Amino acid sequence: MLDNSVVTIKGIGDKFAEDLQSLNIYTVEDLLFYFPSRYDVLEIQPLSELIHEDKVSIEGRVLNAPSLSFYGRKKSRLTFNIEVENIAVKAVMFNRAFAKNQIKMGDVVTLTGKWDAHRLQITVSNYQKGSIEKTSEIQPIYSIRGDVTSFRLKKAIQQAIREQANQVEEILPPDMLSAYKIPNRMGAMKTMHFPESRVALKHARRRFTYEEFLLFQLKIQILRKRRREATVGNSQHYDAMKLETFISKFPFSLTNAQKKSLNQILSDMKSPYRMNRLLQGDVGSGKTAVAGVALYAAITAKKQGALMVPTEILAEQHFQSLTEMFGDLARVELLTGSIKGKRRKEILADVENHQVHILVGTHALIQDDVHFETLGLVVVDEQHRFGVEQRRALSNKGLHPDVLFMTATPIPRTLAITAFGDMDVSVIDEMPAGRKEIETYWTKANTFDRVLNFIAKHVEAGEQAYIICPLIEESDKLDIQDAVDLYNQLEAYYPPSIQVGLMHGRLHSTEKEEIMKEFAANKVQILVSTTVVEVGVNVPNATIMVIYDAERFGLSQLHQLRGRVGRGDKQSYCILIADPKSENGKERMRIMTETNNGFKLSEEDLKLRGPGDFFGTKQSGLPDFKVADMIHDYRALETARNDAQEIIEFNLLEEDPKYEPLRTLLENEGVFDTVLD
Ligand code: ADP
Ligand code: MG
Repeated sequence: MLDNSVVTIKGIGDKFAEDLQSLNIYTVEDLLFYFPSRYDVLEIQPLSELIHEDKVSIEGRVLNAPSLSFYGRKKSRLTFNIEVENIAVKAVMFNRAFAKNQIKMGDVVTLTGKWDAHRLQITVSNYQKGSIEKTSEIQPIYSIRGDVTSFRLKKAIQQAIREQANQVEEILPPDMLSAYKIPNRMGAMKTMHFPESRVALKHARRRFTYEEFLLFQLKIQILRKRRREATVGNSQHYDAMKLETFISKFPFSLTNAQKKSLNQILSDMKSPYRMNRLLQGDVGSGKTAVAGVALYAAITAKKQGALMVPTEILAEQHFQSLTEMFGDLARVELLTGSIKGKRRKEILADVENHQVHILVGTHALIQDDVHFETLGLVVVDEQHRFGVEQRRALSNKGLHPDVLFMTATPIPRTLAITAFGDMDVSVIDEMPAGRKEIETYWTKANTFDRVLNFIAKHVEAGEQAYIICPLIEESDKLDIQDAVDLYNQLEAYYPPSIQVGLMHGRLHSTEKEEIMKEFAANKVQILVSTTVVEVGVNVPNATIMVIYDAERFGLSQLHQLRGRVGRGDKQSYCILIADPKSENGKERMRIMTETNNGFKLSEEDLKLRGPGDFFGTKQSGLPDFKVADMIHDYRALETARNDAQEIIEFNLLEEDPKYEPLRTLLENEGVFDTVLD
């Protein structure tokens, strides 16, 4: 039985079984599916492509009988020539005197070893008779730990295959195997351990890649379906005519990307299911405009709306723009922690009796004393600051509104599918026409004087600038010192007519807001800051973003920071000050100067940093795939997602017997009865 302990395999005793536990191998099945982490493949390359001192493999015909010489005690040296591509290459083999009789003139041999390009010589570490075509060699490499050696592990796997491989049952329907031309589970498993050829290995990997993605996507889709079905119906019957009129009064027409996103949102709102949608788009792409229309839709459906943002200053900004947008069509109110006493009581009362249509605020919105009469839609700005707990707090109050998350952090499609698999995603990937592109420059630290003059010139013309110092978590003391030093330096450098402000994470939040307000009111012209400024504050008069030690930031973060400028109608600039040592760092700076497209940047970032780093490993919530690779196997991920969607949508797990094995497997993992949040 596959779920028996590994000790049931011949040759595995208690001690070895215990050692295997350090690799998370407990059962026979665990052992059979403990795949190599990589493979060493012998690959014959043309002589011209061999790199000096690399380990290489070459193939050729032996030109002369090997000559053997001895030196030192028991040391020997065997030399012979082989003909490769009509060139004589010298082969040297140490301490393998026995090979003298095995290698004969005229033999074809495959030699692996260290290449000396100057002498056209190979120091052989491994040789085989015959051509690689027939004796192709793929060495599986297992990641091992503790007392487990590769050799013993391989032996154990070999034995387990001998005894139990035939117990491995197929879980995918047969027509899927033939449609995708992928090998069956048992065969593919064997191939993973003992690949008979590269082609076979490729197909085996393809199989498990797809299997992993499909299971993962099925789990997500099942959860999503369960979540949908667990919620009470909240169709919002909005008034389409009124929406048309509302939109037609905008001083611009919506971009196609905005229209598409809006339609997706509206159709969610109309449906009886709760919307759980992420609206992604670069800063300035017009998310707020779309959210405004959605909020209005809720109002025409006789429901209330809420807009939740991370800081008070943002709440105020949104409050103002929504008030403008709605005029007398709706009553918009602001509720933050600093609104207290009588005023607060009034607002709360009017929220409860539906006199207030839209409530804008910070997390104060979901506090105990806030009672909506009927909440239809919650819009959450900057998704990464809003979590499961807030969602739960709303549910606990008996509120099951549609939820729309907005984020300006562009998330690559690959990750969006995976990390937000249970969220629908709308993307605004198009900027309104006529925007001035931010000009981005990369310069070395020794030109800082010129940068300061550049800032002075623009400040004298009435504009403002940010200067960002990086903040690294472990050493934030030190970095605050950087910001403080820089601040002092600038204070001394600039005349009193140019006011410099300082902001960093150690300040109290009221102090931060105070400084931000001064900057927003142009009482401070230059703001020196650690990255706390990242949160979507809008100061359209700021046109310069200088980022110090820019190589310490990831691309997405740099792009976020850059998005703080370019919000008005004046030309804006982003200046990256960086002396990156690594190629990777230089590449990031170059990409920044080349594109303003957040999605392109995020894809590049993903390639350069890998998915774990992208979200920070802790919060990534991404599964650990054994075989699949989210970036390289992206197409398979899409296929699996579509298949999973179809399977779940049409209830095939329950209704089509060919999916029975998949269902059983998912059942055993508890997918159908885990607690929903
Ligand atoms: P975001 O929330 O994505 O940062 P906003 O919705 O705040 O973007 O829009 C940024 C600015 O662009 C606002 O001044 C808004 O009025 C304007 N805007 C939004 N959509 C369009 C559009 N389709 N055409 C022109 N300007 C637009
Ligand atoms: Mg916005």
